[in-house]
Amino acid sequence: MDKINNKSLLSVLCEPADTALAIDNPANGAVIGYIPVQSEAEVEEAIERSRQAQGDWKRLTAKERSVFLCRWYELLMENQNDLARLMTLEQGKPLAESKGEVAYGASFIQWFAEEAKRAYGSTIPGHTQDRRLVTIKQPVGVAAAITPWNFPIAMITRKAAPALAAGCSFIVKPANQTPLSAYAVAELAWQAGIPKDVLQVVVHHSPEKVGDIFTRHPTIRKLSFTGSTRVGRHLVAQSAETIKNTSMELGGNAPFIVFDDADIDQAVQGAIASKFRNAGQTCVCANRFYVHDDIHDEFVSQFIEAVKGLKVGNGLEEGVQIGPVIDALAKERILEKINLAVDQGATVATGGKALNGCFVEPTVLTGVQQPMSFIQEELFGPVAPILRFSSDEELIKQANDTIYGLAAYFYSRDINRIWNVAEALEYGMVGVNDGIISTELAPFGGVKQSGFGREGGQEGIEEYLETKYLCFGGI
Ligand code: NAD
Repeated sequence: MDKINNKSLLSVLCEPADTALAIDNPANGAVIGYIPVQSEAEVEEAIERSRQAQGDWKRLTAKERSVFLCRWYELLMENQNDLARLMTLEQGKPLAESKGEVAYGASFIQWFAEEAKRAYGSTIPGHTQDRRLVTIKQPVGVAAAITPWNFPIAMITRKAAPALAAGCSFIVKPANQTPLSAYAVAELAWQAGIPKDVLQVVVHHSPEKVGDIFTRHPTIRKLSFTGSTRVGRHLVAQSAETIKNTSMELGGNAPFIVFDDADIDQAVQGAIASKFRNAGQTCVCANRFYVHDDIHDEFVSQFIEAVKGLKVGNGLEEGVQIGPVIDALAKERILEKINLAVDQGATVATGGKALNGCFVEPTVLTGVQQPMSFIQEELFGPVAPILRFSSDEELIKQANDTIYGLAAYFYSRDINRIWNVAEALEYGMVGVNDGIISTELAPFGGVKQSGFGREGGQEGIEEYLETKYLCFGGI
């Protein structure tokens, strides 16, 4: 069951060795493969090769780069099943979710293949009669990325596709828990004709060492990071030395609000999708539920029923909706948060227990009150704390009372309230009557300590472009 179906996507696999990185299946702890790791000198060499390769890549026309990206997109979709199985093996999410992620990840490649051709400059009315002013867009240069394990493909394509579309070369350091998906996606890029040095993957036993090299290396002109706020803060500080252009997609603490005029069935459905996708291990997943007093009991009883119906198990098994969490440490951390919640006065309404292996029961906590400290940080597991509220004003204050500002959700059918609340929430993204909002067509990103920069949408390619101003005089 733990076998990788299509090894042709993983020429990187090696024999077990002390120096190799072993990749585990979080559903049962079995090793699914080994890969070699790079030395620090090899990471530096990869950066130099990237610099050399970028020259030819940026000289292609946008249309030529777009053709390579289209082919890459097609190869991902042709290999969707094998990639999904590989992702479930190394990351744990249910197979249907993995398939969804492959399609979602591929959609960024398709989108930026089109956007490559729209990296327009502008003409500006001159300030004297003999001058003409123009802007052009140029790639920032060598771009590097550091990505997390929770979306092992999409977090890479969301960065690599706009970088390559813009004419940058690209090096990614994936999370050490999920490098196989990264290599498989890179392998397909190479099969699509994208030169090996234009898109590279580096893996090292110590993520910190690669972070040090990426942030301090003057050749790297752009660093795009997705991960925790703690690591993002450290990378931004280190990048100051080379005044590096950075984008930071960091942690969240999403409020999910159900007003008294909400469609409760719809809200329950949205709450389940938002909270329990990927076993609650997403940066945009609902972290705190605020439910209006008048509908609290009705919402909570329907929600608990739905949570009790979720099937937990190995993501490769038919019908499983909740897979394992990523590793034993994550499981321990989630259980500590549940215990802390109970110590602080919350009640476990369902779930709350550890299961064999890296599994945690889907859990609902009621009687939660602000400011209980366990809801100030991401829970990053299948745990849903429920708070009550009675006034909109008090609710907005509580929802915004966090250092984070990534995603927020609310359910209401009152158009005035919808506009007022959407504008008052201090978040980069707001789902109105919708619990899953991410798409390649729209800008994804946060405010406050959830980071800066946007991925996807019209904005995504701008992160990899510089605007150059040309002034033509003496006309
Ligand atoms: P993490 O910050 O521990 O790790 C993310 C990546 O950084 C991994 O590749 C890791 O190896 C690397 N890393 C760790 N320490 C490093 C260091 N000192 N220097 C350089 N690299 C280092 O986060 P995680 O636990 O892997 O992922 C979960 C986090 O990612 C959550 O906080 C989640 O909210 C966030 N996330 C954010 C988004 C977004 O778009 N905003 C998307 C997905 C995940």
